[in-house]
This record gives sequence, structure tokens and C-alpha cells, in this order.
Amino acid sequence: MNFVLSDQHLARREEFRRFATEELDRGEQFPAENLRQAARKGYLGLPLPFEWSGGGTDFLTYTLLIEELSRVCAATGLIIAVHTSVGTYPLYYFGTQEQKQRYLCGLARGELLGAFALTEPEAGSDAGNLSTSAYKSGAGYLLNGTKLFITSGDRADLYTVFATIDRKLGHKGITAFLVEKNRAGLIPGKPEKKMGLNRSNTTELRLEDLYIPVSNRLGEEGMGFSIAMALLDGGRIGIAAQALGLARAAIDYTKTYLKEEQGQSGLKTGQGPAFKLADLATKLEASRLLVYRAAQIKDAGRKCSREAAMAKYYSADLAMEAAICCMNICGFPAAGFDHPLAGYFCDAKATQIYEGTNQIQRLVVARELLQ
Ligand SMILES: Cc1cc2nc3c(=O)[nH]c(=O)nc-3n(C[C@H](O)[C@H](O)[C@H](O)COP(=O)(O)OP(=O)(O)OC[C@H]3O[C@@H](n4cnc5c(N)ncnc54)[C@H](O)[C@@H]3O)c2cc1C
Repeated sequence: MNFVLSDQHLARREEFRRFATEELDRGEQFPAENLRQAARKGYLGLPLPFEWSGGGTDFLTYTLLIEELSRVCAATGLIIAVHTSVGTYPLYYFGTQEQKQRYLCGLARGELLGAFALTEPEAGSDAGNLSTSAYKSGAGYLLNGTKLFITSGDRADLYTVFATIDRKLGHKGITAFLVEKNRAGLIPGKPEKKMGLNRSNTTELRLEDLYIPVSNRLGEEGMGFSIAMALLDGGRIGIAAQALGLARAAIDYTKTYLKEEQGQSGLKTGQGPAFKLADLATKLEASRLLVYRAAQIKDAGRKCSREAAMAKYYSADLAMEAAICCMNICGFPAAGFDHPLAGYFCDAKATQIYEGTNQIQRLVVARELLQ
């Protein structure tokens, strides 16, 4: 196993770091301009093949991108991660040639934004329990139901939506559909007010007699659950990279803070905070190794469910731990709403929840250990 990034990876990381530092804005609104600039650089389709207007990189390069973006603006990192790993890959992996020709180049170039609509009020961790229905109607299907917490729910151009053709069939009834934003019956709600990541719009999505032609069905009837599961490993590695970027941001901030303090009273730079920082830096290295390793295993075309789950929960837990420890070290100002550390803390929380909660990741690992 290679523990050192290649020169090519280091060069790309440098490029992403410069882009994130110099070109991303950290405002409060939906980061449309960040996405435009990222699209201009080819970052919305980075790991897709050239033939589909992608950047032709490996998955490891993509994780470096998400880490660097998230260190500066975690919402931009999240939107691009969701767009790529679960907004675009379903079509790339499972779409027909005709479906890909319609949308894949647009997604890879960032002219279209992708979204993934699986979660429902009664189907979060237990995604197989979804109740959104898809009934045959003429040459297509009528979809009815409610999706929850959909990233870019009111902004996306193309949604991969999961519905069941017959609830009695359980997982085997779940079917995936490509849904364009302007279809009658697709009704996004208002963005949820979250403790963090508010620049990334998370919305409800109501489907009311939403007609979808057969030509927009992704894969065969009943393949939807396998499609969703096939995407999870890549999605989890992306979120692990996002959390890694957030943990790094908190640690970098605190390093600078302590160095400045050292030059002044020196009061706060005893072994207590310094050792805490050393612990966090060590865990950060462990998190980085887990994330990059999971990406490398995926790049090698091997199954990486266990490694992706480990990387996801370790990095997300570290992002929370780092934010809290760093706030403790920096004292009260860090608890103010406008303070960067408070921002990292608020953003980090969701990384423990989406793409499968950290408990579910532990379940994945434990099941593999005990089988
Ligand atoms: C900011 C944000 C963006 C999101 N974006 C999307 C998106 O784009 N598309 C999408 O489809 N969804 C999205 N989600 C939804 C997300 O994937 C779900 O919130 C997540 O899967 C958890 O589901 P739940 O919230 O219903 O929690 P529940 O599944 O109800 O879980 C509640 C608690 O029970 C625990 N639990 C549940 N089952 C088990 C078990 N078997 N063993 C042990 N513990 C268990 C969980 O770990 C959790 O602690 C997003 C969520 C957030 C917060």
C-alpha cells in the first residue's frame, strides 16, 4: 500500500487548495458563484471519464478536492460531493446510453446540478421502508409521496428519486427514476433551518401525481435498492473527505491561535492545550489515511464498504471532536455564532448523520467483523 501521495496527486491537491483559498467565497447565501467557478475548472465532474465531459481523474483525486473545498466552505464541498457521488453516478453506472446522452455531459460540466432523493419521514436509516409509490400509468408511472432532507432539493436540475412499485415486495419493489426539475407534480419545500451548512439547501420534496415516462426509469423495476446501496460507498468516502477538511480547518485555526498566544502572554500555551493539539493532529493523520485508503481501494475496483464506513465515522466524529476541543482551547470568543470554530462545529454535526448515520457505519463494520 502506498502511504504517500504521488506527485500528480500532490499537484492536484495544491491546485484545489489554491482554488479554495483564493476563489471560494464564504458568504451566507446559496454558493452559486462558487459552483460556477468550480464548474469552470471542471470540478463538478472530476472523476467522470473524458468521454462524458468529466475530468478523468481517479476517486482519490476527487476526495482531495472535497477535502480542500470543505476546509474553506463545507457547504460548497457538500453540494459538489452530493452532485457527484449520488447525483451523477447513478446515471453513469446504471443509465442507458440514451439517458446518459441526455444528461451526463451536462452534469459533468456543471451545467446541470444533480440531487438524490431517498430519505422519507419513515425511511431514513431504514431506507428499504420507503413508501413513495410508483404506479404504472400509460407509458410511464405516477409517483406520489414525500421525500425529506434533500440536498439541493430546490436547486437541482435532475433528481434520482426512489419509489416502490409495490410495498409488499419490500426492497425488491424499489425502483429508481430520473426526474427533471420542471416536471409537474415535483414540489420542493423551503430550505430547512439547520445548525450548520445553511448555504446548502436541504428541503422536503413532495411528489404529487408526478408523471415519469418509462424512458426515465433508471435500471429495471425493483433495482432501485441495489442502485442506492451501490452508491453508498463512494458517497461515504466523499463525506469522510468533507469531515476531514472540517477537522483540518479547526486544527489549523487553533495552531495559528496558539502560536500567536505564545508570542504574547504564553499563558494559554502550556502542555494542556499543546498536548490536546498534538492528539488532534495525530487523529487527523489517522483520518486522512482511512479516507485516502478507502478511495484507493475503490480506485482498484475492489469492494470498500468496510473501509468507507470506517473512514466516514472516524472522520465525522473527529470533525466534531476537533471543533469542540479547539473551541475549549480558544475560550469564549470561539462560542460566538460568527466565530470560525463555532461554524466548523455547526457544520460538522451533519457529517455524523448523512450518507448513513455513524451508528449505521458501525453496524456495517461490526457485521463484517462478526460474519
Ligand atoms: C444536511 C442533511 C442533508 C441530507 N441530504 C440528503 C439527500 O440529499 N438525500 C437523501 O435521500 N437524504 C439526505 N439526508 C438524510 C439522511 O441521509 C438521513 O437523515 C439519515 O439517513 C438518517 O435518517 P433519519 O434522519 O431518518 O434518522 P433515523 O434513521 O430515524 O435514525 C435516528 C437514530 O437512530 C439510529 N438508528 C437507526 N437505525 C439504527 C440501527 N439499525 N442500529 C443502530 N442505530 C440505529 C440512528 O443512527 C440515529 O441515531 C440528509 C440529511 C441531512 C442532515
